[in-house]
Amino acid sequence: MHELIANLHMHTKYSDGHGNHHEIKKAALDERIDIVIVTDHNIHVSGLEPYLKDGENQVLMLVGEEIHDQSQTPQKNHLLVFGTENEYATLAWDPQALINKVNQIGGLSFIAHPVDPASPAVNEDDISWIDWSVSGFTGLELWNAMSEFKSLLKSKLHAVFYSYFPNRIAHKPFPETMKIWDQLLNSGQRVVAVGGSDAHALPASLGPLHKILFPYKLHFRCINTHILTNGPLQGDYEYDKQLVLRSLARGRAFIGYDLPASTRGFRFTAHGLSKIAVMGEEISAQGGITFQIHLPIPTECRLLRSGQVIKEWKENKTCTFISSEPGIYRVEAYIHYKNQRRGWIFSNPIYVRG
Ligand SMILES: [Zn+2]
Ligand SMILES: [Zn+2]
Repeated sequence: MHELIANLHMHTKYSDGHGNHHEIKKAALDERIDIVIVTDHNIHVSGLEPYLKDGENQVLMLVGEEIHDQSQTPQKNHLLVFGTENEYATLAWDPQALINKVNQIGGLSFIAHPVDPASPAVNEDDISWIDWSVSGFTGLELWNAMSEFKSLLKSKLHAVFYSYFPNRIAHKPFPETMKIWDQLLNSGQRVVAVGGSDAHALPASLGPLHKILFPYKLHFRCINTHILTNGPLQGDYEYDKQLVLRSLARGRAFIGYDLPASTRGFRFTAHGLSKIAVMGEEISAQGGITFQIHLPIPTECRLLRSGQVIKEWKENKTCTFISSEPGIYRVEAYIHYKNQRRGWIFSNPIYVRG
């Protein structure tokens, strides 16, 4: 199993971001990110070189799109779409039709920032997802770096403070979003969780101070989606695109907040009578299951079944747990950083069937 680090959900000058695609690839290469997925608002940008290489290192850029109905006020229901090669923003007014179309062409769709409350101090509206009648989407963005930043802005001064101390921002996904995810999983749906940066790299000024708010490089050190694939990238665009998107579609991935410490190397597996399941896979409870969790460094970790914590470890690197109960098992790990407890790893589930 090969681990690729992806940073997804970001904007360029083609919508409301400030950088361009080459700057994004360069920043990703510098930060040793393997894959970036650029998602401008309501525009599919095509014809770009997908790779940037430097000796042994390379970055693959996939171009998706973030689609929402611009005639709505406020502009809710943002859908991240990956693996498409054409423009589908014309379907923005009907999220279900959009999801169906993306599925039909073999693409992936993720509900962006499902909970994204208003921030009146900086004139930002609530742009949460509201159309929960939809079905068939691949997953949701469990942790969005910019939504969390926005939620902390009780005044304009807070914005200045956090722009200078960005390592104080990320703590964990919103509890409301976690709850929505668990409810969807418990209803029997397969829902893949990803972490998104929602990078814009906007220039900001306050008096004589001029600054780029959250440059791409900073985002690439923070909330990433680590994807487990059958092998490394090959440098063949069609092959690599399918390698990444098929693993992501299955949920063979976890969210890692890589700033306190790299989350590379995290593993969560379920060992049953006849197979070993990884994140995103199903396994039969018959005969009992041994869950194995491997953390890159010893820290606080918990195993959840269908949204409930069933076991906690305080400072372990390897954790095991035996169960024969069917359910949806997932892992959360926490770490202390800058004197505060932070969410560090959020796994996708293993589905244990009765
Ligand atoms: Zn959005
Ligand atoms: Zn966005």
